[in-house]
Amino acid sequence: MAIKLFDAVFYLPIIVSCMIISQIYFERYWVSSENTQINRIGLATVIIITYFIQEYCLLQLSLLNINEVAFMQVVPMTMVFRNKVYKIWWGLLVVTPLFANLAEYLLGVVSLRSWWFWIVESVVFFGIGWFLTHWQGVSKRLRYFLALMCLGIVGLVSLVITNRFNPGSAAAATLGILVIALFEDRRYRSEQKNNHKMKLLQQESERDDLTGLLNYRALTQEISALAGKPEIHNIVIGALDIDHFKRINDTYGHFVGNEVLNYFSTVFRKKIYSAFPNHGYVYRFGGEEFSIVVTNHSLVEVYKLLTKIERSFNKKPIITSGNEKVTISFSCSLTKHLKGEVLDTTLKRADKMLYSVKNNGRGWIITDNHHQPYEK
Ligand code: GH3
Ligand code: MG
Ligand code: MG
Repeated sequence: MAIKLFDAVFYLPIIVSCMIISQIYFERYWVSSENTQINRIGLATVIIITYFIQEYCLLQLSLLNINEVAFMQVVPMTMVFRNKVYKIWWGLLVVTPLFANLAEYLLGVVSLRSWWFWIVESVVFFGIGWFLTHWQGVSKRLRYFLALMCLGIVGLVSLVITNRFNPGSAAAATLGILVIALFEDRRYRSEQKNNHKMKLLQQESERDDLTGLLNYRALTQEISALAGKPEIHNIVIGALDIDHFKRINDTYGHFVGNEVLNYFSTVFRKKIYSAFPNHGYVYRFGGEEFSIVVTNHSLVEVYKLLTKIERSFNKKPIITSGNEKVTISFSCSLTKHLKGEVLDTTLKRADKMLYSVKNNGRGWIITDNHHQPYEK
């Protein structure tokens, strides 16, 4: 038994290394290859060949020490847990018991009479994998651990049925599975940490430094996501540009200009957010230009609110930290995002409409229905 345990401990790093190489290789290239059919077929062929070479080596080892089926299913089971869209691993999960038993038959370890058992093993492993990967409400870590335990139990049962059970095999198999579970658990945790970091970075990349508003990158992503949501039945998009902003810079300097931009952004965002909670979004399109997105509210509602905001900025000057009084006005356009329309088309329409405000006195809001300046 000591020798068997020693063999397991000796071979285990080799198995784990093989796993790492095959999985990293697979995940990296499957995602980054340009997804052409030829690339996919080539990659799948390489994966299948290397997988079976690895599995054959594993089988040679397991014939001496451990329960081969429990061990040989760990790689495909791990991979279907990582991402169940990788169909190749589902296939390998089913085919591996057939392969292992066939190889054992050719090596003279099992007889052909137990062929039905090979199929039962395939079906059971597929069933366990399918059930545990699709089970909602329980953490993935726990489900993965249960999956490995199930592999071990099925393996032990098969050893008992085929009269090959011995405590050394069982101990070595348990030890091996625990090591792999531990390794996968660490990998999973570091993956979660990385995902969290990536999310933070993405959030940062979607924020504008000066105003704290979401930027153009966020706008494009948000709109494509919004347009596909069934609960969204109406999207109003607006383009807003502060009038004669260059004059503010020229008169008071760039820093005051920044302060005004910052103040405007904060007040404007607050007003939109509180009037349309969870339905109103403001983005800095660039410079002194902003985009507004309001969902599930009518164009008229948005128009009324913006008119009120425009008037309030017109009446009350912004007082800067240097006590300068700066009065601003803005020009704005509002248009409905049409079903199936590409965002660019809506934004271009809003932009074109904005030009007509700029060319007709500035300081008013044009919509799909209102084409004239209002009385001030
Ligand atoms: P219009 O009414 O036609 O929009 O006139 P405008 O002066 O607002 O427009 P124009 O496009 O001629 O100038 C925009 C100005 O906005 C020029 C640029 O210096 C200023 N600007 C853009 N981004 C910033 C910024 O981040 N900070 C400051 N202070 N100024 C900015
Ligand atoms: Mg301007
Ligand atoms: Mg401008």
